[in-house]
Amino acid sequence: MKIYGIGGFNEVGKNMTAVDLGDDVILFDCGLFLPPIVELEEADKVYTEKKLRSIGAVPNDLVLDKMGLRHKVRAIIPSHAHLDHIGAIPFLANRYKADIIGTPFTIEVLKTLLKDEKIDFRNNMRVVQPNSFCYVQGKHKKYRVDFINITHSTIQCSLIALHTRQGVVLYANDFKLDNSPTMGQKPNYDKLREIAKEGVKVLIVDSLYSGDERKTASEKVARTLLEEVLLTTNNDGVGLFVTTFSSHIARLKSIVEFGKQLNRKVVFLGRSLNKYVTAASKVDLCPFRNDIEIATYRDQLERKLRQIDKNREKYMVVCTGHQGEPGSILDRLSRNKLPFKFQPKDHIVFSSSVIPVPSNIKNRDELDARLKKRGVRLFSNIHVSGHAGREDLRDFIDLVNPENIIPAHGDHKKIAPMIDLAKELGYKQRNLHLINDGQRLNF
Ligand SMILES: [Zn+2]
Repeated sequence: MKIYGIGGFNEVGKNMTAVDLGDDVILFDCGLFLPPIVELEEADKVYTEKKLRSIGAVPNDLVLDKMGLRHKVRAIIPSHAHLDHIGAIPFLANRYKADIIGTPFTIEVLKTLLKDEKIDFRNNMRVVQPNSFCYVQGKHKKYRVDFINITHSTIQCSLIALHTRQGVVLYANDFKLDNSPTMGQKPNYDKLREIAKEGVKVLIVDSLYSGDERKTASEKVARTLLEEVLLTTNNDGVGLFVTTFSSHIARLKSIVEFGKQLNRKVVFLGRSLNKYVTAASKVDLCPFRNDIEIATYRDQLERKLRQIDKNREKYMVVCTGHQGEPGSILDRLSRNKLPFKFQPKDHIVFSSSVIPVPSNIKNRDELDARLKKRGVRLFSNIHVSGHAGREDLRDFIDLVNPENIIPAHGDHKKIAPMIDLAKELGYKQRNLHLINDGQRLNF
């Protein structure tokens, strides 16, 4: 078989890997690279395949055309619902006569992306439950694909095991080993052991933090951090705002539960929160849906904020803007573009970390500066990562015992430490493959 690293091997984003099995090709992930999109002017934010290609925001899958492989693609399999893994599907999937196969939440989020972009595509969408499997029909044979439950910072994430004649190709892009998740199940270690016994030929692995000597803390720890700030810091009589990743349903669940304990009405503000919460509800994975109110459209939003402005001590607002994104709720509030005025001592809790790209760092610094002028209290970094650290990765490699390793999910500076880690575990250089976007490997 041949494996093409198409995107995500030189940057954090536009993840895509192709497995060429001769008559058939399977694609893992098809994501966006967000920084060039964030930097587009508001008027330019009408997306087409051509525009996204020109700014380098989608994986360069034209390499498949060049190799005569495009018509052999049988399936596109996203590992989870994050935009850097599914966000390019609406713009590229039309090029392939291939099914899109994912867990219920992943497919539901994809449907909302298609609706938002008003894209109608011909690809068949198939749903597979976590810890279940499906078959992909090739030209002459069918391939078993396992969706192995794994923990990360959104729900229903999978490690994907593609069974081939040469052994398993295991796609492990975006995970951590959380043994105390606050929603969903633990990683399916039994299944991973079984796959290891069958023999993993190639592992494509999230190595973003392979250089960080740590075990990534459980989501349980993020919950405790939030509890400290929300329940044990005095917030009587002041405004209380919390912002986090809209797709982080488990985190949102903790936030809502603490809001209820404070006897505050929990109000979600912002389009992207509405999008993910609605998708989670549709697949019955939003246990807090009846405990919150959501305001999205301008009238609704402004009406709600006027109410909150008068009775701020009665509400907890969960809103967008943790990266200082232009147009987000916090951004607009900080610029006096919405009918709510922050007062000294109001609390703003960032249950997030700043994604370390220049545009985000700048936006967030400027947001913080504007907020501080109002005298509000900022609680930053009330967060734990969704990505495995070096010591998790050591355990993971030990467990699945792959023959070959391809580090993924970042530039080489970030992912190269995976190579050293594998050498510490006894691997030889010939089985370790630090590749660039567009590069092919033969196995
Ligand atoms: Zn992710």
